[in-house]
Amino acid sequence: MSNRVMIEVQQLNKSFGSLHVLKDVDLTVHESDVVCLIGASGSGKSTLLRCLNFLEMKDSGKILINGEEIDERSHNLNQVRQKVGMVFQHFHLFPHKTVLENVIEAPIYVKKVPKEKAIKKGRALLKKVGLSDKEEVYPAKLSGGQKQRVAIARSLAMKPEVMLFDEPTSALDPELVGEVLSTMKELAKEGMTMILVTHEMGFAREVADKIVYMHEGKIVEIGTPEEIFEQPKQQRTKDFLNSVL
Ligand code: ADP
Ligand code: MG
Repeated sequence: MSNRVMIEVQQLNKSFGSLHVLKDVDLTVHESDVVCLIGASGSGKSTLLRCLNFLEMKDSGKILINGEEIDERSHNLNQVRQKVGMVFQHFHLFPHKTVLENVIEAPIYVKKVPKEKAIKKGRALLKKVGLSDKEEVYPAKLSGGQKQRVAIARSLAMKPEVMLFDEPTSALDPELVGEVLSTMKELAKEGMTMILVTHEMGFAREVADKIVYMHEGKIVEIGTPEEIFEQPKQQRTKDFLNSVL
């Protein structure tokens, strides 16, 4: 683990109308850290990830990515989003494109990578997620676990500096969860900086460097897996863990 700060969030606030969803959120994520966000449904986990990827615009506060403060009015957000990849619960693959076409689309059309080069890289990524034999297949023919691994490969194709995962295994049949988690574990081992929302407490405990517990839009407690799972300091954290473990 290096000490370089990859993401810095300071006093982040976000409301939807009168609903105050993120309340003075502060978070520091170092390079190669794996950070798991946990908390009850509605606590603001997805909104926090979406703010980090500028799918939602914060109301106030600061977001720094790799040392640079991102001002959504002056930055090219498409460029910023290339640095911060995101994988969703429901895959969001292009249904009318093959697996390989899904993976090479953004590098070719957004990053202007030459097609041959994009294909070569795309194939390497599909190999990495164990889907070399599926490159010509359409998403409808894949299992949920395979779709999610394509989504991960597609995100990696943009060479992000950080990967965000919002409940990447929640839509999967139980027997398909493991293959996606092992792909993510592999990425973590390679040093990818990752922030993920997950209900997979076993994964969080094993892979995370830091666990962040959110409740009603606030970060209640941050700690190592040992600290959070073995000796949480806050009663709310204890109550939450008792309800899910
Ligand atoms: P979590 O991911 O922890 O379940 P979310 O960040 O999705 O929580 O949601 C936090 C709160 O914000 C919820 O009350 C949710 O209904 C609300 N919310 C999320 N997105 C929107 C939106 N686009 N418009 C209005 N309310 C929203
Ligand atoms: Mg959510």
